[in-house]
Amino acid sequence: MSTTSPSSLVRSVIAAVPLLLQLVVVDAQGASSLPKIRILATGGTIAGAQAKGQDAGYKAGSFNVDDLINAVPTLKHLAVITGEQVVDIGSQDMNNEVWLQLAKRVNAALAQSDVDGVIITHGTDTMEETSYFLNLVTKSDKPVVMVGSMRPATAIGADGPANLYNGVAVATHPGAKGRGVLVLLNDEIHYAREITKTNSTQLDTFKSPNRGKAGMTNAGRVYWYDPLAAKHTSRTVFSVQGMDQLPRVEIFYAHANMGRDFIDHAVKLGVKGIVIAGVGDGNMTRVAVDGLQEAVKKGVAVVRSSRTGSGITDRNVELNDDKLGFIASIELNAQMARVLLMLGLTKTRDTDALQKLFYEY
Ligand code: ASP
Repeated sequence: MSTTSPSSLVRSVIAAVPLLLQLVVVDAQGASSLPKIRILATGGTIAGAQAKGQDAGYKAGSFNVDDLINAVPTLKHLAVITGEQVVDIGSQDMNNEVWLQLAKRVNAALAQSDVDGVIITHGTDTMEETSYFLNLVTKSDKPVVMVGSMRPATAIGADGPANLYNGVAVATHPGAKGRGVLVLLNDEIHYAREITKTNSTQLDTFKSPNRGKAGMTNAGRVYWYDPLAAKHTSRTVFSVQGMDQLPRVEIFYAHANMGRDFIDHAVKLGVKGIVIAGVGDGNMTRVAVDGLQEAVKKGVAVVRSSRTGSGITDRNVELNDDKLGFIASIELNAQMARVLLMLGLTKTRDTDALQKLFYEY
């Protein structure tokens, strides 16, 4: 007769735990009861590879969505994962067409009853703009979490796998629902509307300087901070349905000695909107103001924002927006203001109506 010692029994029970956990999440029909997450991959450093170890240089978007999923085997404990490669680019090459394509894929995925949330892998360079765009045009309350990395997948201490794991942990957490598009990097959860990339190399590059973070992760556990009041996702008036282009909006960066030649040229090219990353509270030289005032008279929407990186660009402070016909970006930086202005111009050309959007979104 075989006997089982107490210690070998303990060992067998411990060995059986992963199997038991798997049984718990598989119902009678053999279907998993874990949340179902679709990963939409777009490239970026999280999918980047160095030519050789220790190489400072790397190519973004070298690994595909299956490689990213397979690099984190523990994802299967959090969710049933499916993947889709939407594009394969460094996010410095992000453009309006890809935004529209991506937004349509996000909406299509979230409309499926067998998808509970979406993760988007994306480069960090323009993550803030893509996330804010999606935050305004996603028509679902299901979680959408964007993740990237600062180090390529082949680097020592690559941060991509942890970010992907934490991103799925956030997307499968009940508290993520209804918060709009979120960004996960470096154990920090950010609201799409608030984030900005502040450092070209460091892992803690994303900051939410005006209203703060959405939460934190710690060893895959999720901690939420206050929700944000600004409207997003199903509560916006914007939609990409049937849309195949966005109105052209350009950004100009204000500086000492700023002229108006480039403003005049943009107007001649037929831009529909101009955003100024102004000095201080959205200011610029007198000559640039003159150029923009003429642009307004020709039907171009002009938004003043600040190049300082945080704070409020308010109406009628040092410049009389009422008289000049300008719009103030309020809390949005220039790149975010461009996103909202493009979408706003798909709805209205009225200056007051556009200004209202900057208070609401
Ligand atoms: N250039 C890369 C990108 O934005 C940088 C990164 O992902 O961190 O795609």
